[in-house]
Amino acid sequence: MKIILVTGGTGFLGSNLCIRLVNDGNRVICVDNNYTGKNENVAEIANNSNFKFVYHDIINTLEIDEPIDEIYNFACPASPPAYQGKHSITTTKTCVLGSLNMLELAKKHGARVLQASTSEVYGEPLEHPQREVYRGNVNTIGIRACYDEGKRCAESLFFDYNRHENVDIKVVRIFNTYGPKMNPDDGRVVSNFIVQALMGDDITIYGDGSQTRSFCYVDDLIEVIVRMMNSPVDFTGPVNIGNPGEFTVRELADKVLRKVGGSSKFVQRPLPSDDPTQRCPNITLAKTVLGWEPQVTLEEGLDKTIEYFRKVVVKK
Ligand code: UDP
Repeated sequence: MKIILVTGGTGFLGSNLCIRLVNDGNRVICVDNNYTGKNENVAEIANNSNFKFVYHDIINTLEIDEPIDEIYNFACPASPPAYQGKHSITTTKTCVLGSLNMLELAKKHGARVLQASTSEVYGEPLEHPQREVYRGNVNTIGIRACYDEGKRCAESLFFDYNRHENVDIKVVRIFNTYGPKMNPDDGRVVSNFIVQALMGDDITIYGDGSQTRSFCYVDDLIEVIVRMMNSPVDFTGPVNIGNPGEFTVRELADKVLRKVGGSSKFVQRPLPSDDPTQRCPNITLAKTVLGWEPQVTLEEGLDKTIEYFRKVVVKK
């Protein structure tokens, strides 16, 4: 049994990860300030003696009075409406100071630490699909920069702690992911479209809907994250993880409405600034080194996610 700390453990990815790790027989310490996470996401393991919740903001240093084998650093708001605006400075602090604090904790405990980085490090990508060697095209002064540059700085901190402080690190770059335990009001496209269709509200397409994303079902993503944590010590990443199936936002809207049914209409809204035109991972590295590729198609994943939202969203 390993003792594993998960920051952001009540959030969308963090809670799915905590549940997987507890079910695998590990002891899990879940750390969150519940800014976007919620305890009901971990309700099914809350009473398990191998699960402990610690209310804490990782911007501040953290002391844990038991040994730790592994740290998954997943704390950070990930939805553009959640990380922008008045939360932007906190977002940068969470990425930078939070990573620093978790790296120090890993150093103290001799723990391996995995950073949840992001496809946003590629910004508005000029290489398509994106490989890990592509260095990105981020607007450093734009409204997404708090997240993009925060995560980029976190990557550099991870590699400096690896080079100079001997910390055992792993970095994954996570592409768009969806599935159960997303907040209905998260603001990202999959949850927005499903909730809007279920409620009979207008489906909000930003811009003309021709921008693309590649959507990975959460179970596929959790599987590769755990594989990455358990990979050989010399494989630090960064490694892209996501589903290379690429769809326009308009195609996604059509699929969701067809599946949910109902009378929602498509309405166009302004495209937020710096919204990437296209995004698709090249996952050759994950395939080759981790022996992983996604198993769940968008059709199957949407069915499961719609089923989840049907239970949590109350119709008008
Ligand atoms: N989007 C949209 N309608 C929505 C929410 C998002 O058209 O209600 C678009 C958004 O502009 C972007 C894409 O869907 O082009 C994915 O947005 P999301 O916030 O899910 O993630 P991102 O990849 O931008 O971080």
